[in-house]
Amino acid sequence: MTTPAYDPNNIFAKILRGEMPCYKVFEDDVALAFMDIMPRADGHVLVIPKVPARNILDIGANDLGDLMARVQKVAHGVKQAMGAEGITLQQFNESAGGQVVFHLHFHILPRTTGISLKPHTGAMEKPEVLKPLQAKIAAALA
Ligand code: AMP
Repeated sequence: MTTPAYDPNNIFAKILRGEMPCYKVFEDDVALAFMDIMPRADGHVLVIPKVPARNILDIGANDLGDLMARVQKVAHGVKQAMGAEGITLQQFNESAGGQVVFHLHFHILPRTTGISLKPHTGAMEKPEVLKPLQAKIAAALA
């Protein structure tokens, strides 16, 4: 089965074009990182490439390598800012693989022993909760 074509109207493409807002924590020529709006942990961040890739199945190997360097950088910043003991990385491919938004993204989830990930309720987190976390993580990545 072939991977479907990239849809430039997906929500993360709109964020990249500045047509939708996000709680940005990091940006360079390769990647953008922002707070997940329905976080499964405090400090849950998404890292996306600037190149149009649907998921890991259609991105070029060199672009993926460049992106992974940013994923690692953001993981360090999130861990430091949140005072986490560890990081869980998640990345889903196609509906059958659990993907909902079809622009490649890595989830960075700060973890502490004994604290489980929150269930995916579909409820959006409040700005007053996300903004201070955004500021703390962005400062660690500046
Ligand atoms: P998945 O494709 O399964 O990795 O899920 C998409 C993720 O994107 C979920 O964790 C959502 O909470 C998150 N998400 C969806 N829309 C936005 C948005 N506008 N800003 C930030 N995160 C989002």
